[in-house]
Amino acid sequence: MIELLKDYPYLYETHLHTSQVSRCARCTGAEMARAAKEAGYTGIFVTDHHWGGNTAVDKSLPWDKWAEAFAAGYRDAKQCGDEIGLDVFFGWESGFKGTEFLIYGLSPEWMKEHPELRSPVDEIDDPDFNMTPEKQYPLIHEAGGMVIHAHPFREEFYIPEIRLYPEYVDGVEGINATHSNPKSQSHNDPEYDTKAIAYAHEHSLPITAGSDIHSTDLFDGGVAFKRRITSGRDYCDAILSGEDYVLTNGVQWFDKKGKPLS
Ligand SMILES: [Zn+2]
Ligand SMILES: [Zn+2]
Repeated sequence: MIELLKDYPYLYETHLHTSQVSRCARCTGAEMARAAKEAGYTGIFVTDHHWGGNTAVDKSLPWDKWAEAFAAGYRDAKQCGDEIGLDVFFGWESGFKGTEFLIYGLSPEWMKEHPELRSPVDEIDDPDFNMTPEKQYPLIHEAGGMVIHAHPFREEFYIPEIRLYPEYVDGVEGINATHSNPKSQSHNDPEYDTKAIAYAHEHSLPITAGSDIHSTDLFDGGVAFKRRITSGRDYCDAILSGEDYVLTNGVQWFDKKGKPLS
């Protein structure tokens, strides 16, 4: 069981993948929900790899069918969560040539109505579908969602270059547990988090934490609040309005600015 802080008993995994939708994930939404409940989380955000990332959903499907299939991991987790008492929220991880963003606060139904989320243009030869980080931000933000730059300083073969979009994000994933949790088998370099936290400070952007978890061997990272979060939209409001919260990589707790707590 995760040892929670007394004043922040509501912990959320904000970066989680399911095998139904993310090619790199090993466990289903229901399996992930069960593991998170057992570990002591109040809730999870299912953030599977979207069109421009490592998605397992067949890209030859028409958009509405694709969007429906994309929500399969979330729906499986949600059904299980409803049964066992774990709050499950919808999100996704968009990808632009290796640069990735976590999207929160919107629904599968909203996604279905926005085929322009398909990206990048080299896969669809139509300028209307030329989704970019610059176009993504107003689209998501005006719909009431939130854009968080996922692990902005991770260096890996699938990320050709580090690209930063401080004007096109609402916040930064300052702590990604795959970088700094000893249980993680990949991307191990806590320096990626140090750089992300400094970057967030430089642009006065809020910081979030998540585990980028791909199996039930959880890293126990996330964001913890003093109160229970009621919806994906409520989570966005909590982060953006400056509500009190703490961060963890599963090993250590940090304040919301990314400073270690003793
Ligand atoms: Zn992945
Ligand atoms: Zn991820």
